[in-house]
Amino acid sequence: APAVSGRGLVRTYGDGDAAVHALRGVDIDIPRGTFTAVMGPSGSGKSTLVHCLAALDRPDGGEVVLDGVALADLDDAGLSRLRGARVGFVFQSFNLVPVLTAAENIRLPLVLGGVRADEAWFTEVVDRLGLGDRLGHRPHELSGGQQQRVAVARALLSRPAVVFADEPTGNLDTATGHEVLDVLREAVRTGGQTVVMVTHDPVAASWADRVVVLSDGRVAGTLDGHPDAAAV
Ligand code: ADP
Ligand code: ADP
Repeated sequence: APAVSGRGLVRTYGDGDAAVHALRGVDIDIPRGTFTAVMGPSGSGKSTLVHCLAALDRPDGGEVVLDGVALADLDDAGLSRLRGARVGFVFQSFNLVPVLTAAENIRLPLVLGGVRADEAWFTEVVDRLGLGDRLGHRPHELSGGQQQRVAVARALLSRPAVVFADEPTGNLDTATGHEVLDVLREAVRTGGQTVVMVTHDPVAASWADRVVVLSDGRVAGTLDGHPDAAAV
C-alpha cells in the first residue's frame, strides 16, 4: 500500500460567488520510500493538497489514507495524535522555537507526544545532518541552512511514515538550499523515508524521483521516470 493516498479530494474555501475551488477532485498515491515533488503554478492547490494529505486540514470531499489509516474516521484529537506519531513537517520558515536550543527543538515533538527518544537514533540523525557541534545553539545563532537542517532532524526523529516539506528551500540561498535537498534525498535513499515536497522551483524538483504536477486544483500529470507514466 502507498504511504499516503488521496481519492477524489475536493477542498473549497468560502461559498457562493466567493467560493475558491482549491482542489477539484485529486487522486494521488505516494509510494513508500520515494521522494515526490508537487509542482504547479501559484494557486494551483499544492499547499492545500499537502495539508489534506498530512492531516493538517480536512478535505470537503474524498478520502485520505495515511499509513493505512483512513483520516475521515478520526476526530480532531485522533488526527492530532496521528500527526504526532506518523507525520513530519518541514516549513519554508523553519518554525523553530527561538528560546530552545537546536537539541531541544529537535526533541520537542517527542516531548509533546510523551515519547522517549531513542538516543542512538537521535545521534544518528544529528550526525547525518552535520549538527553534532550545533546542538547547544539557539536558532538565531545558526545560519538559515543550519536552522532548516534542525527542522529536518525534528521531522525525522519520530521515524514518520511521511515527511512533508512545503517550499523548504524558499528562504535559503541556492547553495544552502541544495544542501537541504541533499539531506532530504539522503533520508529517502539511506533512511528509507518517504518525502513529499512542494516546490515551484524546477531545480529543487530535480532532487526528487517523481513529480506530480497540479493545475487549477487537478493533477495535470505525474512524471516518475517510467516510459509508461502519464505525460504532462
Ligand atoms: P499553491 O500552494 O499551489 O499556491 P494553495 O493551495 O495555497 O495553492 O491555494 C489554492 C487556492 O486556494 C488559491 O486560489 C488560494 O488563494 C486559495 N486558498 C488557499 N488557502 C485559502 C484560505 N485559507 N482561504 C481562502 N482561500 C484559500
Ligand atoms: P551554511 O548556511 O551553509 O551553514 P552560512 O554561510 O550561512 O553557511 O554560515 C556560515 C557559518 O556562519 C555557519 O557555521 C553559521 O554557524 C554561522 N552563522 C551564520 N549566520 C549566523 C548568525 N546569524 N549568527 C551566528 N552565526 C551565524
